[in-house]
Amino acid sequence: MITLGIESSCDETGVALYHDTDGLLAHTLHSQVALHAEYGGVVPELASRDHIRRVVPLIQETLRQANCTLQDISGIAYTAGPGLLGALLVGAGVARSLAYALDIPAIGVHHMEGHLLAPMLETDAIQPPFVALLVSGGHTMLVGVEALGRYTVLGETLDDAAGEAFDKTAKLLGLGYPGGPAVSKLAQQGDPDRYTFPRPMVDRPGLDMSFSGLKTTVLNTWNKAVTAGDDSEQTKADICRAFETAVAETLAIKCKRALQQTGYRTLVVSGGVSANTTIRQRLTQVAEALRGEAFFPRPEFCTDNGAMIAYAGHLRLKAGQRTGLDFSPRARWSLEDLPPIA
Ligand code: ATP
Ligand code: MG
Ligand code: FE
Repeated sequence: MITLGIESSCDETGVALYHDTDGLLAHTLHSQVALHAEYGGVVPELASRDHIRRVVPLIQETLRQANCTLQDISGIAYTAGPGLLGALLVGAGVARSLAYALDIPAIGVHHMEGHLLAPMLETDAIQPPFVALLVSGGHTMLVGVEALGRYTVLGETLDDAAGEAFDKTAKLLGLGYPGGPAVSKLAQQGDPDRYTFPRPMVDRPGLDMSFSGLKTTVLNTWNKAVTAGDDSEQTKADICRAFETAVAETLAIKCKRALQQTGYRTLVVSGGVSANTTIRQRLTQVAEALRGEAFFPRPEFCTDNGAMIAYAGHLRLKAGQRTGLDFSPRARWSLEDLPPIA
């Protein structure tokens, strides 16, 4: 059984082939980062058009790498939401046309379930129940995973996502787009003792988070330094360091609380921000201090990719689930509305 996965929810076209017993056979990705860089963010119409250009060649390339033909595919998984509607429609349209032509089943996958399950591509040691922290460009949430497909949102950001805060910080400091990798690279040269930024909402009970205040702290700190005649790279690095530490500490406190509240031992962290080394280290410490374990995707599968969609779709297809031709992709879609997988 081979599942073809197609991701097109935002600015990455990702394609992968997942085999029932052999695992991931091949995966390809085209990032639109260069296309959107001059606008400082994703332009939806440009994203949709680029997915149209890339998706079929990527499918052909992925099949070639896996030494497969279309006839070897037994099911097709596509990202059905949440995301940019025009971008989602491209992947969904191609996936469903192919499935119809090949007379094989198709399944619409929830993008955040794809992220959530991505660490399982690395190991079969992850067993529910566990706590999942999803930290990406559009989401920051803690999810209780009672069983595969049974999700309870324990807490989430009330404003900006953590990835968005990284992107906005980068923009304020003139570090380009996307900001996460640039901010974390510069943070390595930062002085950890120069600035301390607030850890938002940690003094309040509960698992909700807030990251929009941090970008104001970044802006005020930078403006103050510039006004005092200091616009040096070192100051930028020191701000990045303080910012990254504040995000890592906030996530650490909330993850610890979520593990204690649920009594679960396992912490699964995924989404683009989980590629961040400081955050990975800090959250590993949190889980280990509670005699548990933390799991992350391999760095390239933290951000959007086709492999996580192929994998999530494979699990649901194997459980007999199907998505009919009457289903429309959704820009918004709660994880809690998904049916259990088994
Ligand atoms: P969503 O999954 O919520 O729909 P998305 O798909 O755009 O959003 P991802 O592709 O999962 O998000 O992640 C992209 C985000 O991850 C960006 O905000 C980017 O800045 C951030 N990011 C990537 N690498 C790092 C890093 N090393 N450190 C911090 N943030 C990072
Ligand atoms: Mg992206
Ligand atoms: Fe994503």
